[in-house]
Amino acid sequence: MALETCTIDGDRLNFELAELGKIGLGEEGGYYREAFSQADMDGRALVEVYMKEAGMAVTRDAALNSVGRYEGQDESLPPIVIGSHTDTVPRGGNYDGALGVLSGIAVVRALFLAGVRLKHAVEIINFTGEEAVAPGGTFGSRVMTKHFNEELLEQTVYTGDTFREHLEKAGVIIEKLAAAERLQGSAAGYVELHIEQGGILDEENISIGVVSGIVGFRRYRLVFPGTANHAGTTPMDKRDDALIKAARFTLAVKETAERHGIVGTVGTLQVDPGAPNVIPGSVEITFEMRGLDDSVIDAAQKELKSSADELKASFDKYSHKPSVISSTEIVGALEEGCRKAGLDYIVMPSGAGHDANLMARICPVAMLFVPNRDGISHSKDEYATPEACVNGARALLHGIIELDKQI
Ligand SMILES: [Zn+2]
Repeated sequence: MALETCTIDGDRLNFELAELGKIGLGEEGGYYREAFSQADMDGRALVEVYMKEAGMAVTRDAALNSVGRYEGQDESLPPIVIGSHTDTVPRGGNYDGALGVLSGIAVVRALFLAGVRLKHAVEIINFTGEEAVAPGGTFGSRVMTKHFNEELLEQTVYTGDTFREHLEKAGVIIEKLAAAERLQGSAAGYVELHIEQGGILDEENISIGVVSGIVGFRRYRLVFPGTANHAGTTPMDKRDDALIKAARFTLAVKETAERHGIVGTVGTLQVDPGAPNVIPGSVEITFEMRGLDDSVIDAAQKELKSSADELKASFDKYSHKPSVISSTEIVGALEEGCRKAGLDYIVMPSGAGHDANLMARICPVAMLFVPNRDGISHSKDEYATPEACVNGARALLHGIIELDKQI
């Protein structure tokens, strides 16, 4: 049978989403499939059944990532990998992650039922511990790409156990984690479909976003000096108010980010001594910037550093994650997939990190976004229409078929 007969069974995809959505549902709505909880493991087991029913051989690696494999025609080629996660934040939604895994299964089911084998094997991976409920997040893809920081094992998780104990209770053998590692080049490419989480596609009524890259971020800590003094007796022109300086800087972050076309946010602020009748003597803030082009963030950082210098503030960068640029080849294949599926699309960056960030360390990656209502995620109000889900799976199917031809 030919590739042309491959079609996504949309009803089946939405049925599986609904069935998975019966696992870990809290009383007041929202999902509690936190990493390695019983509900998470139950959800993973169900998804493995769906993988088998779609013609895949299923294994679990040492990080408990579920891997469903549908063989290709040429055993010498590395697989095309489609992945995401089915764990949730507490009171999370049923689409963030789950849609990516189940639409991958829908793609393989389409091939399987049409009796088609691509050149490359297709692997669907349901990664473990993606949400940062597990310390650091993206546990499964970090282990797979040799980027797991073992110090996190001693951190305490939401159950009160250490992460090590939490993993061991779920059946992970810590000493054997390295067995899940994969080598550079061991996959031909990695594609992840995800709800958009930004609200652009929903607002503009666009079916698909093809992701040009995942923005990097940098986080900074600043301390603004001042002189604590009586708020009643000190005249306005005799004050050295640390919070006024922090406020000026906060506006500078907004204006600088806007000017450079990136996003910048002052997210925390601590006022010392912090009393209504005392002029602030010291203020500590943290802020972050995110953007796709590291050189643009460099420029914004330089400007804000000089603003901080003028205000006599300390300026400390404490976290830096470089951006991930999508493979032009995979983006091209996914765009062609959208056209073949008759779907309108835009090419856009991702403001959030995903398992794709890690997989980019071992193979070319790209992502597809589908619209979710008002861009809301990590919430019980997270929702994507059945039609949006099916459109995403259709774009993914045709994109994967294109990719298989091109590489
Ligand atoms: Zn996610």
